[in-house]
Amino acid sequence: MTNVTLPSRADVAIVGVGTAGAAAALFCAEAGLRVVALDRAPLERAGAQWLNAVPAHLFDRAGLARPTGAELESPPLVMHLFAGRGSEHVVVRSGHDALEVDMALLVRRLQDGAREAGATLAGNVRVLGVEGTSLRTEHGTVEADSIIDASGLAGAQLLGAMRPPPQDLCVAAQEVRVLRDRGAAEAFFRNRGIPPGELLVHMGLAGGYSVLNVRLSGEHVALLSGTIPASGYPTGRALIEEFAQEHSTWIGEAVRSGARAIPLGRPVDVLTRGRIALLGDSARQVFSAHGSGIGAGLVAARVLAEELSRGRGLDGYDVRWHREHGGLLAAYDAFRRFSQTLTVDEVARLMRAGLIDAATVVPAMRLEAPSLPPGALLSKTPAALREPRLLGRLAKVAARMNLLRLAYSQHPSREGVPRAHWARGVARIAGTST
Ligand SMILES: Cc1cc2nc3c(=O)[nH]c(=O)nc-3n(C[C@H](O)[C@H](O)[C@H](O)COP(=O)(O)OP(=O)(O)OC[C@H]3O[C@@H](n4cnc5c(N)ncnc54)[C@H](O)[C@@H]3O)c2cc1C
Repeated sequence: MTNVTLPSRADVAIVGVGTAGAAAALFCAEAGLRVVALDRAPLERAGAQWLNAVPAHLFDRAGLARPTGAELESPPLVMHLFAGRGSEHVVVRSGHDALEVDMALLVRRLQDGAREAGATLAGNVRVLGVEGTSLRTEHGTVEADSIIDASGLAGAQLLGAMRPPPQDLCVAAQEVRVLRDRGAAEAFFRNRGIPPGELLVHMGLAGGYSVLNVRLSGEHVALLSGTIPASGYPTGRALIEEFAQEHSTWIGEAVRSGARAIPLGRPVDVLTRGRIALLGDSARQVFSAHGSGIGAGLVAARVLAEELSRGRGLDGYDVRWHREHGGLLAAYDAFRRFSQTLTVDEVARLMRAGLIDAATVVPAMRLEAPSLPPGALLSKTPAALREPRLLGRLAKVAARMNLLRLAYSQHPSREGVPRAHWARGVARIAGTST
């Protein structure tokens, strides 16, 4: 074990220096707070290490410069969404702003910024728990007014076991593989009517929720996949492996890969207890409809730093975050659970009926509330009426999504009975037990 000397006191001690923890360290240090941020991994291996899609406007919302240079793998791409491996599809040419970002470089930028702003960062330090006002680590203790658990799904669990049930765990994988034969690859894409370089998305190929994305990037093929194995489906990595085997003439070995579980489900109801607060994946601040936690974690880090620096404390963070952001994540989790019930044939029928089209996909890609102008809604009516059962199921989930957003906007400011009552109410609306 390497020797690490930690400061004995801090205003804010952060556990986990991935995207959420590093952003919190940066924003809190910039606000003049004394910050210590610790990760059990070496700092250069902390957090996500793969390529992730992150909506550009969430960087603005978090008050961070958008990625540029090597950190920006690709600007928003034209997306071709297919129902499973069938031919029914939808093309999204514009409107979404998902940047492909090199996460290792984003984490490094956040960590460098935090250090420059005065934060102390240390890797190879496992946090063991909290005792009174102290954070207990392998290398001694740190006294802190606020302790932020940004240690991810399988992290320090400072507020007790928060791991969601298996049916709320998406197992995702991302791989960058060698492009063996450009001609064969381009022929594959052209056969599907896709200009090489644009994004192919297979929706629902292993159950309604699952996804497999494929795109050509320079001398490489980038693949991303996610499924919910507890529903009886293969993992994201297995889907990628199967696809790569099937297309081994043009897809070669992996040069970079990552796989992990992502927590789905509604955000954790109580983000704060005493001097401890949850942030990022540990708080299930994840856009569950496609397992995206980066943008949500950055924005939550900004809310946390603002509330701490304005003197409203962790409780201010809990209340404000739930009211401003919790409802959208909870609403899209309701949609995620609905999507799990869809067969590939139903996804294709929703596309044919115009109920899944560019106008409905774009808000979900942007991590924004679904909204359709009345004209667009009317134009969908004739085709949608040919699918009354699917329309009925969709209307039910839409109503649930609206109610959840309303309930979260009313998150109570007082602890104890009001919050417990509120949590029971949102669980009832969501149709979940917790
Ligand atoms: C393959 C894959 C693809 C994905 N694609 C996307 C995407 O396209 N867009 C998107 O937005 N999201 C995506 N996600 C989800 C995203 O990666 C996560 O939501 C995000 O990384 C969560 O960030 P975090 O900082 O909360 O937690 P993490 O990234 O998990 O960081 C937590 C850190 O805490 C440290 N830690 C844990 N326990 C301790 C301890 N006891 N003591 C000290 N340190 C500890 C860990 O070492 C880690 O560095 C993807 C995930 C996967 C697996």
